[in-house]
Amino acid sequence: MTRLWFRAALLPGGWSERVRVEIEGHRITTVQAGVASEASDEVHGFGLPGLPNLHSHAFQRAMAGRTERRGWAGDNFWSWRTHMYALAQAITPPDLEAIAALAYAEMLEGGFVRVAEFHYVHHDRDGAPFANPAEMAVSLVAAAAATGIGLTLLPVYYANAGFGGLAPSTDQRRFIHDLDSYAQLLEASGRALAGLEDGRLGVAPHSLRAVTPEALDSLTRLQPDGPIHIHIAEQTQEIEDCLAWSGLRPLAWLMQNQPVDERWCLVHATHAEAGELALIASSAAVVGLCPITEANLGDGVFPGADFLALNGRFGIGSDSNVLIDAAHELRLLEYGQRLLRRERNVLSSLADQGTADQIYAAAGVGGAQALGAPVDTLSPGAAATFISLDDRDPSLLGSSPDEIIGRWVFAARRPVVDCVWRRGRKVVSGGRHLARSAIVARYQDALGRLRA
Ligand SMILES: [Zn+2]
Repeated sequence: MTRLWFRAALLPGGWSERVRVEIEGHRITTVQAGVASEASDEVHGFGLPGLPNLHSHAFQRAMAGRTERRGWAGDNFWSWRTHMYALAQAITPPDLEAIAALAYAEMLEGGFVRVAEFHYVHHDRDGAPFANPAEMAVSLVAAAAATGIGLTLLPVYYANAGFGGLAPSTDQRRFIHDLDSYAQLLEASGRALAGLEDGRLGVAPHSLRAVTPEALDSLTRLQPDGPIHIHIAEQTQEIEDCLAWSGLRPLAWLMQNQPVDERWCLVHATHAEAGELALIASSAAVVGLCPITEANLGDGVFPGADFLALNGRFGIGSDSNVLIDAAHELRLLEYGQRLLRRERNVLSSLADQGTADQIYAAAGVGGAQALGAPVDTLSPGAAATFISLDDRDPSLLGSSPDEIIGRWVFAARRPVVDCVWRRGRKVVSGGRHLARSAIVARYQDALGRLRA
């Protein structure tokens, strides 16, 4: 049995001080508040559930910070995508495992405990399928196992280069399936996940531009209990192309043509209009917001305040993994809204609770729904999955419990996540993943191969 003692911990009913948590195997057995620490306790600062990361393309971690230079013809999402495709064409299964291990270790160090991997580089470099159609997914599963992060694997269906069933381009050759080969991929992905304790499987039609309506109908029936994720309304170009194709904007088209419900995660939804926001909110689908990537790519700002006023559900994702940090994502989410509306504390609906506390809790619940996973809580019987923050960091010194998350999100200069436990296993200590040195060495080797 492991006995941990926290100066304060966020329990299901709110923050409590002097909390002992006992763990046996992968579960929490006991939680006691208001108790003194004992000699056999491992003493920590502030304990709380970590967050789910609802949208990641792990391989893109290898191009982080490398596209920050303006080309002669301007720069936008589409010019960035050209760089990204070059990387996607080069990586091998061992490269992917090494890059994903670094991304997943950084997620754990940054406060994420589970990730939804929106995985679309499936085939070998020449576009031919591997003998195991889920060969690349096997690498992602190995990275998740090595780092300890929880994985919801979302094999992506990608068939078309644009609306109206446009044929794919050669630089998309590693992504492409028809419905039969996708069904095989899904089955092989399920086998790949079998080695993980709590892996989950969903489906991911890449975007409305990459699938036909007929394919979308089939895809959403393939994994009846699993999550369905789709990129949508991220780019203004996509809105214009969808209007030209169907007369409807992408979100309006999707809400009219699919039974969107709580299984769905609408990734980005940046350019949502008022009527579309109302449809999404009433569908109980989760909007997958990726504020750092959306800022980095110049996508736009999701109308978050309007959506929350409709009780809309959301979670956060690190998407391109240009910078991996849960607190940064929440900070930028709120700051984007402040800049838009020239107000403060915009994503707050409760005056007696901090803004960061509210969006942290909402992203925990929305993220878990999107990942098809239970909401992590510090309570008896729950999986022992939680994080601790360093109460000796200057940004958290002297913090009362109701200030902790606000100080972390808005005022910490460096990551203050101290330790992370996943299903009873400590995977981060002193802010570093326990296998960090070996993971970085393998990542360095992969970069060397990719640049050779
Ligand atoms: Zn994405």
